[in-house]
Amino acid sequence: MLENNLKFLEETFKQYYFDHFDLIRVPDRSTEREYGYKKFNSGMSRHISLKTDKDLHLLLMTNLPSDVFCSNGYYSFPNLPMTEKDWKEADLIFDIDAKDLNLPCRKDHTCIKCTSCGEVSLLQDVCPKCKSNKLDRLSLPCQNCISGVKKEVLNLVKILTTDLRIDDKNIRISFSGNEGFHLHVTNSSYNQLGSKERGDLIDYIMFRRAIPERFGFKKNNPSRSSFPDLDDPGWSGRVAKDLFGSKSKRSKGITKIISDGYPVYRQRLEEMGKNSIGVKIDPNVTVDIHRIFRLEGSLNSKSGLAKLACENIEKFNPYTEACLIGDEPVEISANSPIEFRLKNRGFGPYTNEKISVPKYAAAYMLCKGIANLA
Ligand SMILES: [Zn+2]
Ligand SMILES: [Zn+2]
Repeated sequence: MLENNLKFLEETFKQYYFDHFDLIRVPDRSTEREYGYKKFNSGMSRHISLKTDKDLHLLLMTNLPSDVFCSNGYYSFPNLPMTEKDWKEADLIFDIDAKDLNLPCRKDHTCIKCTSCGEVSLLQDVCPKCKSNKLDRLSLPCQNCISGVKKEVLNLVKILTTDLRIDDKNIRISFSGNEGFHLHVTNSSYNQLGSKERGDLIDYIMFRRAIPERFGFKKNNPSRSSFPDLDDPGWSGRVAKDLFGSKSKRSKGITKIISDGYPVYRQRLEEMGKNSIGVKIDPNVTVDIHRIFRLEGSLNSKSGLAKLACENIEKFNPYTEACLIGDEPVEISANSPIEFRLKNRGFGPYTNEKISVPKYAAAYMLCKGIANLA
């Protein structure tokens, strides 16, 4: 990142933290957690221990981080190297991100940035200016993607509260600060699970590796009565709804399944997991019991937006509510082939133009790499 862009972002983030100390707090059991941070243009510092909000504020003011993280794990000695930390337990966490949904709208709000010449253009295989194929992809806000992610979050909450009997008071949903949502489950009986057991939990939630026998198809001797019904609890009911649509179509549906045969049914269950009823979480996040995870209230350097808790996810609009940087005018040179909206105001498209925009939009475009300070 260019030196003056970096200075601007560091100052802007510092101002945000100064103005919004109320939003950024250490979580419960702070002394048992590991903290970490990144700076613009440098790697991760980890194995930090913080006791109070004051310690956290001091870290923000002195280190000017681009991103701040806190462990889901609890340790006896959080500031020691991983092997000496003495892991006790870890909150269950989930990450649902728009990029993992692969919605058809995605190509319309993704652009490429050439790592050789810096040109930004609409999605294509090579840089239109220098023909290089070394390209970074970047996505700008899309309400349709956010609606899709919200739907997955609500499906996940339903499975957690019904199938896994997690009290919804222990589930905290937050906007990630870019294109997704995070779910933190605290104080549940799942906290003690290791990585492998969390992997099994993910298979369950994503509806992966489903066995036809479990959903009524006995390989050698299929019986009509053992297929799932729409009123069944858990996955049986969800599978039946997806397979048959309605009770009246169930009998005909079973006849077809049996005549198509066992391998076709197995294939169909697998596709249902991937394409319809499985929840699209990022499995790598949930299995990691030593992860440090973006801290609530902190800014995301991919966007300059805040990671914020959502009281009512259906009504929450991240591109207004999580956009908390000031609006004083800033002169930038912008190159964005795609329009986007922040705080209910449209920006772009811009073709290498000098413009004056509110500070939050300048920070957003600098974080995305589609503008430089003028
Ligand atoms: Zn190029
Ligand atoms: Zn989209």
